[in-house]
Amino acid sequence: MAESIWWKHRGTPAVDGALPTGQVDVAVVGAGVTGLTAALLLARAGLGVVVLEARHPGAVTTGRTTGKVSALQGTMLSRMLRAGRRESAAAYVASTLRAQEWLAAEADGLGLGLERRPAATYAPTARATGTVRGEHDAARDLGLPVRWSDGPDLPVPAAAATMLDDQLQLDPGQLVERLLAAALEAGAVVIGDTRVQRVRQRGDGVHLEVSHGGDEGRVSAGRVLLATGAPVVDRRMHFARVTAQRSYILAFDTAGAPETMALSGGGPSRSFRSAEVDGRRILLVGGAGHETGRGRAENRRVDELRAWTSEHWPDAVELGAWSAQDYTTTDHLPLVGSLGGASPGVHLATGFNKWGLTSGVAAALSFAGEALGTPEPWADDLYGRRARLRDVPALAGIQVGVALGGAAAAAGLAAPVETSGRRAVGEDCRLLPVCTHLGGPLRWNPHEGSYDCPLHGSRFDRDGQVLEGPATRPLRRLPARD
Ligand SMILES: Cc1cc2nc3c(=O)[nH]c(=O)nc-3n(C[C@H](O)[C@H](O)[C@H](O)COP(=O)(O)OP(=O)(O)OC[C@H]3O[C@@H](n4cnc5c(N)ncnc54)[C@H](O)[C@@H]3O)c2cc1C
Repeated sequence: MAESIWWKHRGTPAVDGALPTGQVDVAVVGAGVTGLTAALLLARAGLGVVVLEARHPGAVTTGRTTGKVSALQGTMLSRMLRAGRRESAAAYVASTLRAQEWLAAEADGLGLGLERRPAATYAPTARATGTVRGEHDAARDLGLPVRWSDGPDLPVPAAAATMLDDQLQLDPGQLVERLLAAALEAGAVVIGDTRVQRVRQRGDGVHLEVSHGGDEGRVSAGRVLLATGAPVVDRRMHFARVTAQRSYILAFDTAGAPETMALSGGGPSRSFRSAEVDGRRILLVGGAGHETGRGRAENRRVDELRAWTSEHWPDAVELGAWSAQDYTTTDHLPLVGSLGGASPGVHLATGFNKWGLTSGVAAALSFAGEALGTPEPWADDLYGRRARLRDVPALAGIQVGVALGGAAAAAGLAAPVETSGRRAVGEDCRLLPVCTHLGGPLRWNPHEGSYDCPLHGSRFDRDGQVLEGPATRPLRRLPARD
């Protein structure tokens, strides 16, 4: 698997430890930015917190992100206004500013490096100017002090841009390291190699069945936050309400690393920023997104970004290329809150639409605020609370998804055939490339060396172990051939 630049110059954080025996106040599932922030806030407030992480902290999206902490987010606000209520969009802006303020206020104490930079949403062509103007107007309407530029000073062709000064960028590997250290110091217990496979609420609390270092185990908690990126172990099928979107990031050595962090509005998506990594200033380029397990070959998308970069930064020397996925919602709002009904103690935080460094922090602040009796003022308008989490489109989504997967398999587009994996412990290890979540036909991803599911974005490594997505069990192994 291609590693991100954030982990290349530092070791990935290891956490181990035994599962707690008694009931804890809060179990947080997932040690990305959302789970670690929630754990820190609640442990600091004196609650007993355990974090259960399937891999290692930051292993999935947070440790592979671009690291922009910006209130100007491409064309997010204009799309949000078109899709829904103005109150929700205003609450979204308030939550983003709150998350930025929290990170800025914590940075010194955490030892977190934050760089202040202007952010831009730019029009790569004159035709895209209307789209960017729409975002400018939406941002102004929602109270952001954006400024318009007809000739932005960017290292790529740009007909116009809307700009927001004083935004933040960070090193996501450092963010994970520092949040983890602070959560541990505050008393949270963080356990790696622990995948939650089942969640049940009964009168006395929420009970989790886990696979811990290959053994089965149980954890009980008063309340649970599923901060797992993709919604997992969720009988309301919220995984069908989000779409897994994979995209690519490349790092380059160049004399022209830009001052501004930028994202195109209109045309093919292109994101760039500079970063200080291992003592040198580098360029990060991102884009070429698609639904996980679908569309053109992954390697061609990386080549497309390489070609675009060498056109605009001819001296650029590639330092690394990796990809990541995040979960989008049709109304562009995060999917956050208690599942309610028979599971009021089970909370979900997903659907960050590729802006989880602010939306994940905001979801954590909201979860902690609710648990501690100090709710965030924007939370109800933003998350729509239970009504939004309980409605029915999930069922329709899952039915369509399964039907599409079945049709694809029947048409032989991605037929579930057995495959020969690597040799494992002296045996011929054969895997059935059928997703263990809902039976989707897996597709080989040559860029990452993984099996990817086109239905809900589950991914498995060469040995069939879950990498990410809603699946919680490894691929089935077939008996060895003679
Ligand atoms: C290419 C790309 C670039 C991005 N750039 C930006 C950016 O510049 N700015 C920004 O704000 N956002 C950005 N994002 C989005 C942002 O990175 C994510 O929204 C955010 O990292 C999500 O954090 P999280 O903690 O919710 O999830 P994750 O970081 O994915 O963490 C979830 C954790 O849960 C664990 N887990 C999963 N299932 C289980 C289970 N069953 N049991 C136990 N543990 C489990 C996983 O192993 C993982 O460690 C980007 C996304 C992508 C794809």
